[in-house]
Amino acid sequence: MGSFSLLSAAARRLEGKVALITGGASGIGESTARLFSKHGAKVVIADVQDDLGRSVCKTMNPSSTTFVHCDVTNEKEVENAVNTATAKYGKLDIMFNNAGIAGVAKPNILDNDKVEFEQVVGVNLVGVFLGIKHAARVMMGARKGTIINTASVCSRIGGAASHAYTSAKHGVEGLTKNTAVELAQYGIRVNCVSPHFVATPLAMDFYKLDDEGVGNVYSPLKGAVLKPEDVAEAVLYLGSDESKYVSGHNLLVDGGFTIVNRGFC
Ligand code: NAD
Repeated sequence: MGSFSLLSAAARRLEGKVALITGGASGIGESTARLFSKHGAKVVIADVQDDLGRSVCKTMNPSSTTFVHCDVTNEKEVENAVNTATAKYGKLDIMFNNAGIAGVAKPNILDNDKVEFEQVVGVNLVGVFLGIKHAARVMMGARKGTIINTASVCSRIGGAASHAYTSAKHGVEGLTKNTAVELAQYGIRVNCVSPHFVATPLAMDFYKLDDEGVGNVYSPLKGAVLKPEDVAEAVLYLGSDESKYVSGHNLLVDGGFTIVNRGFC
């Protein structure tokens, strides 16, 4: 057992699997890369933050971790990221389409700018589309695979983020369902994961929060603070064979946030 593998062989849930993680240089993607690696997966991190992505790889098992530059809005770069995984490790079992941006907070629709709107939809929805498409290209041949997309509680509710972000995340759930229906015939599962607030650079910048502000974020579930590692555990479930009959699902990791009726007055 290598010094980076903290789990026994029997406990490793992704032994022998190959995973590609977009937005893997930071936050939820980085935590998922670390957890996947701990569970025996070979991991390719794809991100636009090259230095950060490479430094994350260096702190993981170097013999089974690779960084590739990839802007998820650029189809050639997404294609190249998928091809890097298959060239380096021989296959692709798990695609985690996780890269995202929050955009600018402009609650008034009249202030919203078309270019900014398209940027957010470009990364958060078109990027997921391209990731699914190119993962499916290689998974169809293998007749198996699992694709996980990062949505958000904003895939279910309005008013918690920008118009563009909410639109994109609703789109991620729709695209997850459509592709789950189509790709089931190839043995490919497609699911999404929807976190509540996690204190990552994306969320801290968007909501302009400091540590005290994070402590005041509303959650119906008391006594637990959602961390990137907790979202990674949900992604591990969807990436592993334990979820072999789960497809087209939106796994909410929100402490019940989206089902609370906070009353009319
Ligand atoms: P983060 O800022 O820590 O990580 C986002 C990563 O995506 C960064 O490494 C960034 O470089 C990368 N990225 C941005 N644009 C990219 C592009 N065009 N191509 C490739 N990589 C790109 O933030 P996070 O919170 O870990 O975000 C991960 C995902 O989780 C996003 O899809 C986000 O919408 C979603 N999410 C976050 C929260 C939250 O509260 N943090 C809640 C729900 C959903």
